[in-house]
Amino acid sequence: MNQCKGVIITGKNTMTVSSQCPVPEEPCPTGALIRPLIWSPCTSDAHLCATGCASLPYLLGKAVGHEMCGVITKVGCEVRDFKVGQRVIVCSVMPVWRSLEAQDGMAKQHQDNMYAGVDFPDRGGSFVEEYEIRDADMNLAPIPEGVTLEQAVMVPDMMCTAFEGVSQLAPAFGSSVVVLGIGPVGLMAVRAAVLHGAGNVFAVGSRQVCFEVAKEYGATHLVDYHNEDYLQQIVKDNGGPVDGVILCGGSEKELGKGLSILKKGGTLVNMSAYFGGSPIEIDPSVWGFGYGDKTIKGVGCRGGRLWMARMAKLIACGRVAPEKLITHRYHGMEKIPQAMNLFLNRDRGLIKPVIYND
Ligand code: ZN
Repeated sequence: MNQCKGVIITGKNTMTVSSQCPVPEEPCPTGALIRPLIWSPCTSDAHLCATGCASLPYLLGKAVGHEMCGVITKVGCEVRDFKVGQRVIVCSVMPVWRSLEAQDGMAKQHQDNMYAGVDFPDRGGSFVEEYEIRDADMNLAPIPEGVTLEQAVMVPDMMCTAFEGVSQLAPAFGSSVVVLGIGPVGLMAVRAAVLHGAGNVFAVGSRQVCFEVAKEYGATHLVDYHNEDYLQQIVKDNGGPVDGVILCGGSEKELGKGLSILKKGGTLVNMSAYFGGSPIEIDPSVWGFGYGDKTIKGVGCRGGRLWMARMAKLIACGRVAPEKLITHRYHGMEKIPQAMNLFLNRDRGLIKPVIYND
């Protein structure tokens, strides 16, 4: 095992650049080694940092990070479709394609699909100088011609999560969708809902920087949740309860709020992660007393080469401009902690930061 530089979490709200992150000399037979060209921290990285890895204690002292694009430096002997020097999008989750879950259409739900893009739990995430991924043929996607690094690094989590959520919501043409929480995944969900043919798309947030992007992505209604009656206002503006709700942020309480504006027979897709350990309470009346045919789906990021390639195709065809999410740009690995601090300090001008590895 060699050692390389990486950004590690050392405790609650503390990170440092370490030069002792393990990386193998050679990738596993199906794997590849990637030298990052660009990284993007995410709220889940910040959550790990803020809690000192409380939800995943084995990550303490190891690298974080799961949104990265880079260039291949080595491939294993069984890799067929990728070669050294190729620029690739790296999966932010690691579906296990050779598994029974995969045969059930749920490769991402195999237990070895480590949360936060950690393919090898003894090594940590991808904020490192060199990263090993297994099953390269299935978990990498080429960056298409004309797609920039900034656009490409929005694919592994932001697009792959939001578009999966909207796919599972499957809004009918002209139907109404509410996106509760318009951070970067919520904003991508707005765009996905528009592309999926939704009519009214309500973008619910509070920050101007996010409202501006929501409007550019095609939201028909910008809703500030600081207004006391914002839920009633949505129902009024829509002419009745909505067909679909997507939850992208906030506490467990949002689930009940989402259900309260959802029509009977409608679907709520949750894309928030709940690590609080407290039960999720839902007032029966908002769930149609249990017999309102209101479906709740908890949806996670869909990974894999095909899905990432399709996301990249949406960018290449000009249907999605994910670079609009990027509000902060840095250069050099040493700046990753600074970018992570934007999340920890709840910077109101932040949507997504990127860091170039140069
Ligand atoms: Zn992420």
